Formats: sequence, structure tokens, C-alpha cells
Amino acid sequence: MKKILKFGGSSVGNAERLKKVVSIIEKTLDENHEIYVVVSAFQGVTDSLIKISLDVRDGKYEEKSLLTLLSRHEDIIMEVGLDSDAELGVIFRKYSTDLKELLLRCPGASVDFNMWKDEVLSFGELLSVRILSALLRSRQTDAELLDARKVVITDSNYGNAYVHYQKSYDRIREYVSNHGRLQIITGFLGANEYGKGTTLGRSGSDYSASIFGAALNVDQIEIWTDVDGMLTANPEFVNQPISIPELTYEEAMELAHAGAKVIFPPAMIPALYKQIPIVVKNTFRPELPGTRIAQNRKLQGQITVGLSSVSHVTLLRMQGAGMVGVKGINARLFTCLADKGISVMLVSQAFSEHSTCFAVKPEETDLAMMLIDDEFEKELKAKYIEPLRVESDLSLVAVVGEGMQYTPGIAGLVFQVLGREKINVEAIAQGSSRRNISFIVKDSEAQQAIQALHRIFFEKSKS
Ligand code: ASP
Ligand code: MG
Repeated sequence: MKKILKFGGSSVGNAERLKKVVSIIEKTLDENHEIYVVVSAFQGVTDSLIKISLDVRDGKYEEKSLLTLLSRHEDIIMEVGLDSDAELGVIFRKYSTDLKELLLRCPGASVDFNMWKDEVLSFGELLSVRILSALLRSRQTDAELLDARKVVITDSNYGNAYVHYQKSYDRIREYVSNHGRLQIITGFLGANEYGKGTTLGRSGSDYSASIFGAALNVDQIEIWTDVDGMLTANPEFVNQPISIPELTYEEAMELAHAGAKVIFPPAMIPALYKQIPIVVKNTFRPELPGTRIAQNRKLQGQITVGLSSVSHVTLLRMQGAGMVGVKGINARLFTCLADKGISVMLVSQAFSEHSTCFAVKPEETDLAMMLIDDEFEKELKAKYIEPLRVESDLSLVAVVGEGMQYTPGIAGLVFQVLGREKINVEAIAQGSSRRNISFIVKDSEAQQAIQALHRIFFEKSKS
């Protein structure tokens, strides 16, 4: 089989973990698979580099933070026994000086700041990939670094760049056909058409894995992380969430959107178009099957596959007699929010058209309210619309599953369970895909709601 193996930050957090990664790679090679490895920065490194960049810009930077970051890498180099690798030593020192010099060239708060920051961030992946490939070579696996900035072509939206697929696919294929050794690839990184480095957004190395997978037409993309796959519920809420064996791409997206953060939905797009299965596996328990995400799954009698949740959301309710039958109210409402970059997490409008309610992140609440008050100033004055109502400290919960489309009574069951638990539902929405029933409850009741639903849907024997 031809495979991508992607290791996230948590899989490369320290020396011991790095050794686990090496053994997974070696085992896969022993099984005669053709593989390409995509790697993130060591755990926490991107966060530190972002902090350093902002501190430099704001004049708060202390060299100590960079030295801590570098010595963490040095410690790992020592602990995996690479301290006598002269070539790695030279490269490590070069990266250290380059990074120090780069920090001196911060363009301040100008438009070039994000471009400069992406260059700073690239050191996270460059360092982790260098160290991993040196470690593999020291164990006779003929590996080399592939700096993805050579082959992943993006626009110039620094920090969250959009990938030009076809151009990137052509470059990746050409590069790989000229390089025979095992490629250890920097996740998260790309470059624009002028060769200036970009990054693909936080957690972007899943996206990198998907892009390389699609370019190389692999049979499978493996996302190696620190959990047993995608779980039926957030382990903070449920004692024993179950690892979901199989999901469709759509189900995985519904689960990921509403809080089950294992794979970032946009990362799936290239894989989905090529219908390449994605398998989520636990680096620390590689013997477990993990979760397989693909076009189809055997239904195996499962109507629902999981519960996802996001806590601390705010619900805004707009209502008024003046909204009934008037065209364009929702368009204006959501446009004024979108124009200022506010993302709406759930929307619900009853067909009386008398009220619309929607959920936003708490930190965006004040801005949202201000924008709406501005947009509807006239209607508010005329009392066509009532002042916005705000309710905070709420949780969004979603029941997800492909089988709900074909099975009557699931919504009934969900709300019956909540009723039995005496939990008041603040708002309800069913995803247009009919694979998702979402509702909002108080933060303080979210755990009880999730536990009760988990018992009914996933611990049948105990209910
Ligand atoms: N290192 C990057 C980040 O932390 C990319 C990734 O981990 O996927 O966001
Ligand atoms: Mg990460």
C-alpha cells in the first residue's frame, strides 16, 4: 500500500515519543508499504513561536524564551542519542542563528508582520523534521527532509494560506519522482508563487497530509495522534467514550465542527475529492484499529455515531413584530456580522419569522451586538425590532450520524431524554444534511445532557 503517515505535535512532544514514531515508521516500512511522512512541530513549539513573534512586535521579547525553546530541542537531540551527529549539529546551530537574526528583522506592526511571522513559525517544523530524519538515518533508514515550501504552492494569505491544488500536485509529483529516499515532510508550510513562505492555518499539518496524499494518489492517509481515534463524546464529559471504528467523511466533518477536535474539516477536502480513506490512530497504542473515515461505512446498525459539544457560547436572540414577512432581515443580520469576520456557530429561526437566534463565541459577543445595533438602528428606534437578548454560558451539543436521515424518531428520542433529565433546551437546529441534530443548553447542564444521551445511544446495554 502507498500511505501518508502524519504525526502531530503530541506524537513528537519528547524523546520517548519520537522513538515511538520511529518504530511506527520502521514497522510500516518492514511491511513493505511505500510511505511519505508528514510531521508537525514538537508539541507547544508553534504556540511558543507565535508568542515570541508577538512579544518581539510589542517590544516585550526576552531572549530567554527563545533559548528555552532551542534548549528543549537540544535536550531531545541528546536524549535520542544524536549529540554526536556532526551534520545535525551544524544545521541546528545554523537554524538557531538564522532564527535569532530573523527576530531582529521584525517589521513591527506593518502589513509585512504576518509574512515575517510565518517565516518565524517555519522553524518549528524545520527543526522537528530535521531531528526525526537524522534519527531515522542513524538507524539505517535512508530518510531525508522535504521542505514543503518547495512544493506546496499557496496564495499570499499569510497565517492561513489557501493551497493551489493542481500546481502543488504537479510540483509534489515531480519532486518525488526525482527523490528516491524516504521523504520526511514539514507539515503546515507552503510558499506563494514568489517563493515566500506561508503557513496553512493552525493544525495545518493535517491539511498538508491530505494534500500530499491526494498529489501522490496514496491508498490511505494515517493521522497519528494521542487519542484512540474519533470518540463518541468528549472524554471530559463522559467516563468511557468509545472509539468510533468507521465514519463517513460527512460524519467526521459534523463531529469535528462541533468540538471533537481530531481532524480539522478543511483538511479533509483533498482526501475527500480523491476518496482516499483517512485513518486516525494513537501513536501510543498503535495496536488499536483507530477510526477509519471514508466515503462509505457499513451501517452496522448504528444510526448515530457520536456526540459533539462546544462550551461557553453566547446566544443572541433578535425578535420583533417588524420582522414578520420582511425580506432581507436575515441577509442583513448575517452580512453585518460576516463583514467583520464573526463566525456564527448555529442559527435557528421559527417559521413565524418573528425571531431569529444564533450562537457566537463569547469574545465576539460585544462586537456582534454593536454591529447589529448599528445595522438595525432605524428598526430599533421604530420598535419594529426589540433590543437584542443575550444569554451566555451556554453549550452547543450535537448528535451526529448518517443513519438519522433514514430513521424516524431520533429527534423525539433526543428531546425525550433531555426532558426526562429536566434539562431545558434553549434553542434547536437540525443540520440541513440531516446528519446532525444540534441544541443549546446551559453550560451547567451540558455534562448531564451529554452523559444521558451517551447512555442511550452508545451504552445501550446499560440504559
Ligand atoms: N505546528 C502547527 C500548529 O501547531 C501545525 C500542526 O500542528 O498541525 O498549528
Ligand atoms: Mg499542532
